[in-house]
Amino acid sequence: MVVGGVLTLNALNGVGMAREAIERAGPAMDAAARLQALQGVCVTPLLGIGLAAGMFGGWTLAMRRYRALVTPGRWARAPLAPGAPARCRCCGAELPEQWGAIVECRFCRTHNPSSTAPSSTSARPSC
Ligand SMILES: [Zn+2]
Repeated sequence: MVVGGVLTLNALNGVGMAREAIERAGPAMDAAARLQALQGVCVTPLLGIGLAAGMFGGWTLAMRRYRALVTPGRWARAPLAPGAPARCRCCGAELPEQWGAIVECRFCRTHNPSSTAPSSTSARPSC
């Protein structure tokens, strides 16, 4: 984003410089030369906008892929039997029954995100 902003400001400066050059040349500069002078400086803002949009798009796609691939593996494992507590995603030990979004394993101290209430059988399975 910073790079895109710098490129945009640089491009605006270039547009100002091109305009000044055109005004100095006056009627001696024909339309084709004016157009050519402006074309060079108009590409740079598009480059800045394209770079910023590309960075935002790449970040969005990366976050979407991260959520799809990594997040399911962070949830507590499903219980082995109905009615049993959920299990630690790291060591597989049964988790203590407690309320909260994150349950800490008694054995390995791993934090296990859980959206279920204690004694619930619907813990999300890991991948
Ligand atoms: Zn554990």
